Amino acid sequence: MLIKKGIPASPGICIANAFLLDTEAYQIPEHRVEPKDITREINRFSEAVEDAINSFSEIRNRLSPNLREKTDPIIGSHILMLQDKHLHEQIIKLIRENKYLPEYAVTLTFKKYAKALISADDAFFTSRVQDIYDIERKLLQKLLKAKSDELSDLKNDVVVVAHDLTPSQTLLLDRNKVKGFATDAGGTTSHTAIIARSIGIPAVVGLNTITLDISGGDTIIIDGNSGVVIINPDSDTIKKYSAKERNFVVYERQLLAESKKLPAETKDGHLINLYVNIDLPEEVPAAVKHGAAGIGLLRTEFFYPSIEKLPSELEQLEVFKKIIRQLDDREIVIRTLDLGADKLPIDGQSTEQNPYLGCRAIRFSLRHIDLFKTQLRAILRASDFGNVSIMFPMISAMEELIKAKAILSDVQNELRKEKIPFDPDVKIGIMIEVPSAAIIADILIKEVDFFSIGTNDLIQYTLAVDRGNERVAPLYQPTNPAVLRLIKKVIEVGEENGKMVAMCGEMSGSVIYTVLLLGLGLKVFSMAPIVVPEIKKVIRSVSMEEARQIAKRTLEFPDAQSAANYLIDYTKQIIPQLF
Ligand code: PEP
Ligand code: MG
Repeated sequence: MLIKKGIPASPGICIANAFLLDTEAYQIPEHRVEPKDITREINRFSEAVEDAINSFSEIRNRLSPNLREKTDPIIGSHILMLQDKHLHEQIIKLIRENKYLPEYAVTLTFKKYAKALISADDAFFTSRVQDIYDIERKLLQKLLKAKSDELSDLKNDVVVVAHDLTPSQTLLLDRNKVKGFATDAGGTTSHTAIIARSIGIPAVVGLNTITLDISGGDTIIIDGNSGVVIINPDSDTIKKYSAKERNFVVYERQLLAESKKLPAETKDGHLINLYVNIDLPEEVPAAVKHGAAGIGLLRTEFFYPSIEKLPSELEQLEVFKKIIRQLDDREIVIRTLDLGADKLPIDGQSTEQNPYLGCRAIRFSLRHIDLFKTQLRAILRASDFGNVSIMFPMISAMEELIKAKAILSDVQNELRKEKIPFDPDVKIGIMIEVPSAAIIADILIKEVDFFSIGTNDLIQYTLAVDRGNERVAPLYQPTNPAVLRLIKKVIEVGEENGKMVAMCGEMSGSVIYTVLLLGLGLKVFSMAPIVVPEIKKVIRSVSMEEARQIAKRTLEFPDAQSAANYLIDYTKQIIPQLF
């Protein structure tokens, strides 16, 4: 049993088999087998060899005759090596005598081969090293096959273990079978964490070496509340966590049942709007179930799995309509593309040196006007079917906003000419997620109907801390006074101008900040559906006057940790059961 501590990224507890992604990129740690299992493990190794040979033969058969001719010597030699009796004997000896797990025995043996080739100091032999790694990878893939099934076609419940998940991998996930995530990389606002929360499954990120600690067929416990991951738990631990899991499910259900019918209202009658963030139409039922007043952020980048598969105007319109139909007139804020940075499905964009500061979000859209216009047409057309607003991400200067609005206006004129209906009063808003935008909020507000504060990025850009980098995760502090002052300013600008200010960053869905944000005057919170009942509970436990006092006091702290401790203590005091 191995216990690891990471960053709690999405609440809940689950126990399942690990599904290790990208096995080929990682080393296999030393693992031993019980003496009674040795024969079984040797058989497993022999089956994996057979499977690997079949797989190489299949690849050969699939090639065009021309290519086959060229690659035959390579694939042929791969197969010959896999059939080599001496190789089998060496690996089986390691399993039998050293009691190594086949995965580890394979890695050791192939490393020895590769080393011998490299030290031969001969160009021909050195060039064969890649072949050795190729064969090793294939064999490992086969040994780990329970875990390397196609992501989209999982047979059993699994916890996905990965270095990190790309958006396209996330899109492929069979959401009924994936019960949790555990990743080496990431912080609380990395997209893996956000997706886990929006699907409502437990996740722990920032575990550094989880992909190395996990091995074939391991059972894994994910405790997304405390950030603990347990590999190969003993039976007592499984019992303890099964009970915890049941209790947590019951607690969440009770909280939801209790709060669903009640308004999000402070003790002294101030009504607050609780919206949700979603990425895909499949998430709408959970949003409605959790009592959301609307969708405060629809991320649209997940509609674009690759540049080859750009969704057409009609395809996008269909998705928007599908979402709107489930909303019964509730408002939906559709954000235009935020491609780039950690959301990089479009090939060729990943080569930027500094992608978070590169051609991301609105900058990307302003350089790909056709793609942008297609999306705007789809959003505008959707506005004829529901209560739709448009939001531009990552505005950092007035020029960008003016350009984006000019393109929007062109698209509106085109639609008018084509007599295609849309809502002429569709509201236009921007994300405030770059410090420059927060600082000039009083100027930008004149051009828009609303703001939505994107704390995930606002924090990373204000503090120069990569939101997805676990090594600097402790520096990613929502309560840093610089961040709080920017948030305060943006809310005040909204109030002074009679315009709505929402917050759709993860900060608005974390109970410890709720009272502070209320006290700063935030009236619209947008968050993952599963946290709505908890946030509502906090709102209902405090008066606006108390919240203002708490916010005032929080702003007086010179450092983030003291402010955070103060907020945690206060929230614990008013609703101890949340902790
Ligand atoms: C944010 O930055 O706070 C936000 C909501 O946008 P995203 O997480 O998609 O970058
Ligand atoms: Mg953002």
